[in-house]
Amino acid sequence: MIFDIITIFPGIFYAYLNEGIIKRALQKELIKIKVHNLRDYTKDRHRTVDDYPYGGGSGMVMKPEPFFDAVETICPDRTERRILMLSPAGKKFDQEIAAELSREKRRIFFLCGRYEAIDERVKIGLADDEVSIGDYVLTGGELPALVIIDAVTRLIPDVLGDEHSAEIESFSWGILDFPHYTRPSVFRDMAVPEMLISGNHKEIQRWRRKEAIRRTLKRRPELLKKIRLTDEDCKLIDEIREESQ
Ligand code: SAM
Repeated sequence: MIFDIITIFPGIFYAYLNEGIIKRALQKELIKIKVHNLRDYTKDRHRTVDDYPYGGGSGMVMKPEPFFDAVETICPDRTERRILMLSPAGKKFDQEIAAELSREKRRIFFLCGRYEAIDERVKIGLADDEVSIGDYVLTGGELPALVIIDAVTRLIPDVLGDEHSAEIESFSWGILDFPHYTRPSVFRDMAVPEMLISGNHKEIQRWRRKEAIRRTLKRRPELLKKIRLTDEDCKLIDEIREESQ
């Protein structure tokens, strides 16, 4: 998978991409990440990427030409690219979109905005998707690009050491993850739930599913409405409700 990032701050990326799982995925050539400086695709002496907004008002707007020139120079064939424009007004990124992007065969471009916004014509004439990472406003699209690359990369086969670990965590079942514990079995009077040291793997699986459902019911009940509950899940929900009475 090839990720292309277009930004006016390429230096932001190097530290994060040179650590941990992403670094290993790069070394194993499971992914490639190319960081491009938007200013390299400007034509004036000052390498200008922004200008005053039509209609007045505060803040500067990122000019369309450098984004078009960058994408069309780096990957001229439009069938080989998928372009994500980062914006708080975009579609909310989630695990489902991460999974869909992890199967993408085309190069994935991230257009990182700064200032007040990117000129709307970049969305109209260049971007395939406008994506937000949440309902808050950041100073630029660089962190959103890293968030998406991170979430997508860990779903690519062979990236995680233990392939199963992405299958049983938050959102992969459509609900939140169950609680995790490691040694010591008692820490500051807090004991690990007995079930987890019982050695009964079938019961441990049931306990984990139940605790994942319990957590989701408490914190994100709307998620449960989106998944198909099994008969066993319904039984677990009844048990949880009885226990809380
Ligand atoms: N005026 C814009 C608005 O209210 O929607 C905010 C612009 S923000 C200061 C500058 C850039 O940061 C945006 O163009 C976008 O690329 C990026 N950005 C900020 N918050 C984001 C978010 N939640 N998701 C994705 N990108 C974001």
